[in-house]
Amino acid sequence: MSTENALAARRRGAFLAWSAAGIAALLVLPHLIASDYLRQLVNLGLISLIVVVGLNYITGYCGQINFGQAAFWGIGAYVTALLTLQGLSFWLALPIAAIATGLASLVLGIPTLKLRAYYLAMATIGFGEIVQLVLTHWEPVTGGTSGLRGVPAIGLFGYTLQGHLQHYYFLLAWCALGLGIALRVRSSKIGRAMIALRDSEIAAEVCGVSTVNVKLLAFVLSSVYAAVAGGLYVGYVNYVSPDLFSNAQAVLFFSMLVIGGTGSAVGAVIGTIVLTALPEALRFLKEWYMVLYGVGVILMIVFLPEGVVSLARRLRRVEETAPDARVVIEQRVEAVAPRESARGVTILQVREVTQRFGGLVALDKVSMDIAAGTIHAVIGPNGSGKTTFLNALTGAYTPQSGSVTRMGVELLGMQPHRIARLGVSRTFQNIRLYRSLSALENVMVGQACRSKATLLDILAGTRRQRDEETGMREEATKALAFVGLADKAGRPAGSLAYAQQRLLEIARALATKPGVLLLDEPAAGMNANEAARLVQLIDAIRRRGVTVVLVEHNMRLVMGISDRISVFDFGRKIAEGTPDEVQGDPAVIEAYLGRSGRVVAHA
Ligand code: ADP
Ligand code: MG
Repeated sequence: MSTENALAARRRGAFLAWSAAGIAALLVLPHLIASDYLRQLVNLGLISLIVVVGLNYITGYCGQINFGQAAFWGIGAYVTALLTLQGLSFWLALPIAAIATGLASLVLGIPTLKLRAYYLAMATIGFGEIVQLVLTHWEPVTGGTSGLRGVPAIGLFGYTLQGHLQHYYFLLAWCALGLGIALRVRSSKIGRAMIALRDSEIAAEVCGVSTVNVKLLAFVLSSVYAAVAGGLYVGYVNYVSPDLFSNAQAVLFFSMLVIGGTGSAVGAVIGTIVLTALPEALRFLKEWYMVLYGVGVILMIVFLPEGVVSLARRLRRVEETAPDARVVIEQRVEAVAPRESARGVTILQVREVTQRFGGLVALDKVSMDIAAGTIHAVIGPNGSGKTTFLNALTGAYTPQSGSVTRMGVELLGMQPHRIARLGVSRTFQNIRLYRSLSALENVMVGQACRSKATLLDILAGTRRQRDEETGMREEATKALAFVGLADKAGRPAGSLAYAQQRLLEIARALATKPGVLLLDEPAAGMNANEAARLVQLIDAIRRRGVTVVLVEHNMRLVMGISDRISVFDFGRKIAEGTPDEVQGDPAVIEAYLGRSGRVVAHA
């Protein structure tokens, strides 16, 4: 057995031992607690935990600020209470409450999640106020400020749950379910897409991720968790009143997540424990306790901005073992991308594209034919519009006029993720990796647009989902090997060296299986050695049948490998031709002489 396997086995053993100990501790916990008051506190903590683990989807994974959890919790609680008071079974009332709440979040999320992050924060605060007003003033239905009493207890297999102890185990099972689902989603393409869009929304889009849909899904999942927690709450305390579901409560849920550590379900657990226990632990301080509590929360946010979980992460040794690195290198010369149509056919047709920013014309009626199977370079002085050109082709900008067609399909005006799915992929001049995902996961985000697994597959862990995940993992490992990063698979992308980050962006872009790959200054920041290897890589990509549009400053590099070169100056295309033609073009010499004083030698 190799040392890697031994290490993995030992780690798995330790994990199992810790899990077993943790489960045992959770099972005996309520028996160690003498007072009913504390038992109830623990149970309410479990209910909060479900709300906070739910919040983690939209706020932790997607990075969107959501203050709606208390309102969704309230809707779930009231709908369940009203239906069970009518005699409906809890087990029917709960899913109805969850669906109703999910629909409410959809109605709230559709208009706001398309906008910037803080719109969701504002919309959910407003929503919280409205829910509060309705609960308080719609007396005939909600019972007004005095709420609803005598909500039936939860029946389970013919028994009725009674007492704190029985409810503890019942709620614990729900927490386990909620956490299990969260971890499953996190390790799927949906979880990766959520974190990808948090780290860079535009980079997620150009990998084919519909960021609006993913955010919407996360928001609905969050609200459904809150609704289920609400239903469990009324089933447990048999009573509901509006004051519990205030915006202050929403902020508390939010603090629980932030203090534990956003972006991790484990963080949600820790934060919930801390903020449930802290007020009790400080109770002996009487009126001073609110002050200390507030100061404590502020200190934690200042000194542990990434939450308590980050402490564990920092303490843990960085032991990186790349999966099967050596095996993969031998397979490196295997197809990464499919061969597009025969060389010479126009694969991207650009006509009179004009992009203005206020008075500035960044692209001035640019036309170009990109021939399949070629390396087509775009060069020009700084600020001449090269990056803007790539942004226009990939949907990051929508030019005011012109047209870009790929096989007859108009790309202008299309959302970036749709363009990506049509086989146009890119890298960024300012690197935009998903910094908190591993190198391997970065590549896997790019593959997701070809995945067939549905949310249900992921939740149920079907065979299709597992096979697909394995396949993606293998393919992504090959893609990493192809760009020379086989041994970096497990490393967080943000920790890679600069040149490696550029290569990772290429691997990620290739994972979408593009027909056209747009590279924006891929050699920037590379030394001569790295640049030379990059040339080989670009050539290998072209030989796989991928058309390359290369924006590059390094003239020697461009002249050496390009089939065709377009030259930009002040947003206009001033010349185009083979490297030899372009080097001798008076307009090109003029454009470059005007600034740097040298033509081709500058590198
Ligand atoms: P290059 O990549 O050739 O160096 P760019 O395409 O980045 O040049 O920029 C071309 C011009 O457009 C520059 O003057 C730049 O300041 C301007 N520009 C680019 N993007 C924007 C934007 N989003 N808003 C305003 N001006 C922009
Ligand atoms: Mg640029």
